[in-house]
Amino acid sequence: MSSGSARPADELRAYLEMLAGGARAGQFFNLRWLTPAGRMRQQFRSARQIRRTAERIETLAETTDVFIGVALRDRRRGGKVAISGSRLLYLDCDDERARDQLAAFAYLPTMEVASGTPDHLHPYWCLDRRVSAVQVESANRRLAVALGADPACVDVARILRPPGTLNRKDERPRAVRLLAYRPDARYSLAELLAELPNDPRPLARTGRSSRRRAPRTALELQLLAIPAAEYVRVLTGREPNLAGKVLCPFHEETDPSLQLYPDGTFYCYGRHSKDRACRKGGTIFDFAAAQWGLGTRGRDFNELCERLASIFHVRVTSRS
Ligand SMILES: [Zn+2]
Repeated sequence: MSSGSARPADELRAYLEMLAGGARAGQFFNLRWLTPAGRMRQQFRSARQIRRTAERIETLAETTDVFIGVALRDRRRGGKVAISGSRLLYLDCDDERARDQLAAFAYLPTMEVASGTPDHLHPYWCLDRRVSAVQVESANRRLAVALGADPACVDVARILRPPGTLNRKDERPRAVRLLAYRPDARYSLAELLAELPNDPRPLARTGRSSRRRAPRTALELQLLAIPAAEYVRVLTGREPNLAGKVLCPFHEETDPSLQLYPDGTFYCYGRHSKDRACRKGGTIFDFAAAQWGLGTRGRDFNELCERLASIFHVRVTSRS
């Protein structure tokens, strides 16, 4: 069902009802908004007070960018520590190919929200029951890999733009809209996951850089198959801890936030500062490019490939 013609206020109400579905007493919406000075502020509202929360968001949205934590918080804290689980899975499809793959996916999202950033679409899948935070992140990640969406958008503490607000990132504000709403689309986690690769297998489709072109050359595929723990160890000298994390080389931190995945991708859950999340993630190419100050396209990409091939002793016998 498309609800593109609904009033923004109705879209916001429907969206909040989906987020609050099955809320228990003592659970909270986590609202965040930007101050004129560019700082992020936050507030907690009972997940049972949908009307009042919607009114608050509408008031804030008149002057600024508003975000909301997709997972309800179990206490008045914004981060992961306050989240024990959720009934929602979600992605950020940030290019045309991801959207095409989404359209071909057997399980239609319960909601699709256009975030106001051109080409960005946020699909949400509502589960028939609450699952743990770990299960949410794992499922989001498998969805991202399968659908070629942004692998950085899997964090259970993720905040996204609610429909009925304005995205003011560019000079001309754009409406955040609810493009589709299928209230009856509810899935069991097992059912949904059965459609997805067990391991994040299709490496060439992982990571933001993969949309650059297709297909990958033999050399690129060999480089992409190197586990993140291995290339991070070689390129930074840092050993992953038992949880598979290292200190992020892209900012100062005392607790490791850079998660390394066996499928060759990485993602940083850390922060540059109180108000700025790191969110660096991707493949060996993204990591090496950031380390060496190179881009991931054109000549820079060729240089990346050559340097990585030499460091990791990957030989190419024929052009492909
Ligand atoms: Zn980081």
